[in-house]
Parts: sequence; C-alpha cells; structure tokens
Amino acid sequence: MKRYFIHTFGCQMNVNDSMRMGEVLGSLDYRPTPVAEEADLIILNTCSIREKAEDKMLSALGRYRTVKLARGTLLGVGGCVAQQEKEKLLKKVPYLDFVFGPDSIAKLPDIIGRVKGERERVVETAWVDSEEYVFPRADPETSRGKVTEFVTVMKGCDNVCSFCVVPHTRGREVSRPFPDVLTEVASLAQVGVREVTLIGQNVNSYQGGVSFAQLLLRCAEVPGIERVRFTTSHPHDLSDELIEAFRVQPKICPHFHLPVQSGSNPVLKRMRRDYTVAEYLERLGKLRAARPGIAMTTDIIVGFPGETEEDFALTIALTEQVRYDNQFSFIYSPRPKTGAALRENDWGPVPHEVKIERLERLQKLQRRISGEITQALVGQEVEVLVEGPSRYNPLKRFGRTAENRTVNFDGDAPAGAFVKVKVESATPNQLSGKQLEVLSPPTVMPPAELPQPPETCVVA
Ligand code: SAM
Ligand code: SF4
Repeated sequence: MKRYFIHTFGCQMNVNDSMRMGEVLGSLDYRPTPVAEEADLIILNTCSIREKAEDKMLSALGRYRTVKLARGTLLGVGGCVAQQEKEKLLKKVPYLDFVFGPDSIAKLPDIIGRVKGERERVVETAWVDSEEYVFPRADPETSRGKVTEFVTVMKGCDNVCSFCVVPHTRGREVSRPFPDVLTEVASLAQVGVREVTLIGQNVNSYQGGVSFAQLLLRCAEVPGIERVRFTTSHPHDLSDELIEAFRVQPKICPHFHLPVQSGSNPVLKRMRRDYTVAEYLERLGKLRAARPGIAMTTDIIVGFPGETEEDFALTIALTEQVRYDNQFSFIYSPRPKTGAALRENDWGPVPHEVKIERLERLQKLQRRISGEITQALVGQEVEVLVEGPSRYNPLKRFGRTAENRTVNFDGDAPAGAFVKVKVESATPNQLSGKQLEVLSPPTVMPPAELPQPPETCVVA
C-alpha cells in the first residue's frame, strides 16, 4: 500500500484543495499517513499571501528532503507558490519532483505517472479556461464523522487590491453552478454534517446562476443543515439583498467577516479597495440593524506603504468604534507583481520596527475589546454545535456558537449535537462552561470521534 502525506499551508481554500488532492490520490490507491517519514509521496500545498508563508514552506521542504533520501519519497509542491514560481521552483529546489498549480489537482494521476514512469520533473501550472473549469465534487465519505465542512462556491478573484497576490496565483473569478453546490451540501448533510461554510476569495460576488444571497437561502433549506456560514467577502459587494437574507433566515449564522484592511481613506485608495470608511460603516450599520448581536470580524494590514501615524490612528479609531469581536491583523508584506510592491518606493516603505510596534498596539487593543465582549457572556447560556473533544483537554467537549465563538465545556454530548452551555469563564478568544441540556441529537451518529484529519497539517 502506497502512502501520502499532505502538508497544508494557508487558508480554508487550501485545506479544501488538500482534501480534493487526497481523494484523487485515493483513486490511485494511495492512503493517508499522519507520519511524513512513512510516506511514499509528500505534497506541500502552499500559500504565498505573505512572504513568511513562503519561507515556512521552503524550510519544511528541507525537512522532507531527508525523507526522500531515506526512502525515495516523491516530493511535490502545489498551491499558490507553485503557481507563482513555476519552473523557477524546480531550479531552486533540485530534489523536487513536481510542481502543480491550483487548476491542476485533477491532473495528479498523470503528473505522478510521468514522474515515476518517465523520470521527468513535471511543471503543470496552466489555467483552465473559465468556461471549461469543472469544480471537483467533494466525496462525502471524506467528511463522514464531521459536523462542519467547507464547500467551494467559487475560485479566483477579479479584484485588483494592490497588495494582493491572489489574482496572480488563483486566476480569474469562476463561480460554481448553484445546483452543483446544493448537491454537495445535500450529500454532506446525509453523512451527518450540520454546518457548511461556503468558501471563495470574494463569495459575495458569486454568479453561479443565482445571487449569493439566494445561494445562502437555498443552502439553509437543505434538510439536515442547521447552520450556513461563508468566507470571505469584499465590502463593496455586500448587497442589500445579502443583508436582507440575514434578517429573514436564522440559519445564516450571525457572524460576518468583513475585511476592512485600514481605517484611512487615502490608504484604502492606494490599496484599490473601492470603498471609503464611511461607506464601510454604513454597510456594517445596516447589517447590525438587520441582525442585532451579529459578530463582526475583520482583516487589517498594518504598515502598508505610505501609512503615516495619522493613518494608523484612524485604524485604531475604527477598531474602537466598530468593536470587532476579533481581528486578523498582518504586517504588510510586498508580493511579486502586485501594484503596491511596484510602487512601494514612491509611496514610502514603512520601517519594519514601526510595522511591528503598530501591529502590537492594534493587537493589544483588539485583545482588550475581544475580552470585554466575551466577559459580558459569563453567566449567560449559549447554544453550541458540538464538534468533538476539546483540543486542550480530551475530557472536555468542544464546539462553536452561531457567532463562531469557540467553547470548551464539561459535558457528554456527541459530535453533531446542539447543546445549551452555561458560560462560566472567558478569555478574549474562548468561552468555557458546562453543558446544561442537549437541544437536539446528531442527525447521524459519528462512527468514532475524529481528531483533526491526520493527513494535513495546517500552518497559519
Ligand atoms: N478576499 C479577501 C478580501 O477581499 O478582503 C481577502 C483574502 S486574503 C487571502 C486574506 C487577508 O490576507 C487579506 O484580507 C489581507 O488582510 C491579508 N493580506 C493579503 N495580502 C497581504 C499582503 N501582501 N501583506 C499582508 N497581508 C496581506
Ligand atoms: Fe485579494 Fe481579496 Fe482583494 Fe481579491 S478581493 S485581490 S483576494 S484582497
């Protein structure tokens, strides 16, 4: 029996792509192993959104070289770094066997055949034409025993944010036809999945035959599906119709990740984000009015070229004003071929120490706000979808609220059950408590409690 190991870097899109790779490898009689040292094939599914992600990938590749030397393991690199670097990666890493882009997952059997049979070093990074692109359909058996699952609804991005490499590594936006999405959601519900997260780089510009709002509403009607989430959205595509969907359909979870990137209009303009802070706040206000209590999260880039102390103060002020439940904040990282990287010297690079100091200030503020929000929940009862044992203490249970707050609690409900939990304590990112009652049992009893899938290792 041949075994494979996939090391996944980056976002949910890559986690999902790794699952599809695993299914293709399964058709070649490869089975997953959680131990890289035992693998006959190692694939690194890479991310190039920031330079650090690329560095992590290169150092992991160095570690896997020893496995290759010891047992002749095949080594491949997929994902965004592969798409960006193409042949250059084979030159840079002489022991690498193959490189393949996000559109070439279905070609893995052919690629592996050529590497093994013809001893060829293969590069497959061609784009498939938008009209011809077929989204790989997830095998529901891969998700049996899981409670929550990602469903790809689109790929690529047609925006041109000046800091972002995604349009270069993931290509043009293509939406998955809605009947295909609904079929996949229904097949997941049949194996016990109760929550789906629709994923894509900019899901609210979805055009797969219905609007994104209608797609959410239809997913919410699939029998067995109790929660629908999505990520990620661009503020300029946040339509009134989508806001209305939050008002009318309670199964659409009260959590919106709406990346703002900066609180300063001149910075947003240089980022080519296509909205002002006032427009962003107006959308956000409508959303809060439609669904009171909705949790808001965002992404922020700190130290974008030309960002002054005044610009940064506006990001701090926006954070205070919105009181996000959580923020994902990053130091600006220049990316190849992007507008901002090409114009960094004209706009004025921000010194690294200044970026670090600003990031720390922002994160400290966000921790305080997140802490205040979660402390206010102590003593309250929350509804939790149980996902399995707690990662930190296997004697406790783990799940999430509809607002996407993580909860570790004393209880015995199986994965897939909805329970009521009394919150007893809180940190900025997590609630702890005890189970009061089971509100609804799982639709399908899980065959066994599954830990995180063993074949993938996710690095943020
Ligand atoms: N499509 C989403 C949107 O429009 O906001 C963003 C998806 S991107 C994969 C995730 C986040 O990475 C972005 O929101 C941004 O904050 C961050 N990011 C992207 N490029 C970056 C860069 N060059 N340097 C630092 N952070 C970056
Ligand atoms: Fe990148 Fe998101 Fe902008 Fe697309 S919308 S270019 S993925 S930041």
